[in-house]
Amino acid sequence: MSEYRSSRFAGIDVYVPGEQPRDRKYLKLNTNESPYPPSPAVLEAVREASRGLNLYCDPTALTLRRAAAEVYGVEPEWVLPVNGSDEILNFAFMAFCDRDIPAAFPDISYSFYPVLAGLHGVRAVEVPLRPGFIIDYRDYLGLNCTIVIANPNAPTGTALELSDIEAIAASNPKNVVVIDEAYVDFGAKSAISLTKRYKNLLVTRTFSKSHSLAGGRLGFGIADPGLIADLTAIKDCTNPYNVNAMTQAAGTAAFRDNEYYMENCRAVADARDYAAGALRDLGFEVTPSKANFLFARHPSVPGGELYKLLRERGILVRHFSSPAIADYNRISVGTMEQMKSLTGRVEEILASL
Ligand SMILES: *Cc1c(COP(=O)(O)O)cnc(C)c1O
Repeated sequence: MSEYRSSRFAGIDVYVPGEQPRDRKYLKLNTNESPYPPSPAVLEAVREASRGLNLYCDPTALTLRRAAAEVYGVEPEWVLPVNGSDEILNFAFMAFCDRDIPAAFPDISYSFYPVLAGLHGVRAVEVPLRPGFIIDYRDYLGLNCTIVIANPNAPTGTALELSDIEAIAASNPKNVVVIDEAYVDFGAKSAISLTKRYKNLLVTRTFSKSHSLAGGRLGFGIADPGLIADLTAIKDCTNPYNVNAMTQAAGTAAFRDNEYYMENCRAVADARDYAAGALRDLGFEVTPSKANFLFARHPSVPGGELYKLLRERGILVRHFSSPAIADYNRISVGTMEQMKSLTGRVEEILASL
């Protein structure tokens, strides 16, 4: 840290992304990316858009919003495209939290939430999960906080029912409830339909996990036009051209090819269910996951040790050192073939202990 850093940011905790190593080729099961490439139409759209890079892109991303609106079953003014869904989470903390409005989220969840609370000087109310890493909706009724819940949750994979989300939105009418649906396409139920009845409900989506576009950086907020106007104001004050021309084109083409991506999500869900069964057969405890990852621990190998042994064998998974979950690893789900190499290596490791 230099002597120039503002005192406002003196003690901030920074977000630590999963490793993206370049030293050798790994089977990457650590950052929940899609194992499938973008569709051919997306690659062509990016090529075409790159010819116009001398010009600014559309700051309202209208074509992309129209394509999103059609797939999500809303009107274009209900959608704000963003530079990865981390950006809309940041906008939401800026727009809907302050000294008097804390942010509440589960104590085990996406580690970006406490980072954003710290960045913006917002008090974080960390709500403990129930045994089995369960989010109990009753813990979120009438909180007087901006509420942020990942559904399915990360890194645990467990999902809420829509009726739970509805109860939370209904009991907090004076506060915004953010449902982070980064993983919803792998089998949980989306709360987008509820945004029509709850003007305090903001649903966030990303194309990083389900739509093979992690490197393109594209996410969305979907909400009543009132909330979208607040978030758009923040966007226009920070980065009016937040989604670049190539990514706008890629996203539009991806929505038009949505069935290709949904089929890939179904294949990932099948591979997940296969791998969960295989890991349980090997003695693992695996949380019931509706996401594209598994959260698992083995009674005879500490989480950090398994992480290391897999890494030596060319497989990267994600290990979190915080004590409540240090026994576990989060394993991204790839293709069926990749899951078979994972379980094969795990079997070798267990046999060698
Ligand atoms: C990956 C992830 C995001 C961020 O996705 P980007 O669009 O790549 O910024 C947001 N929320 C959760 C829970 C995630 O796991």
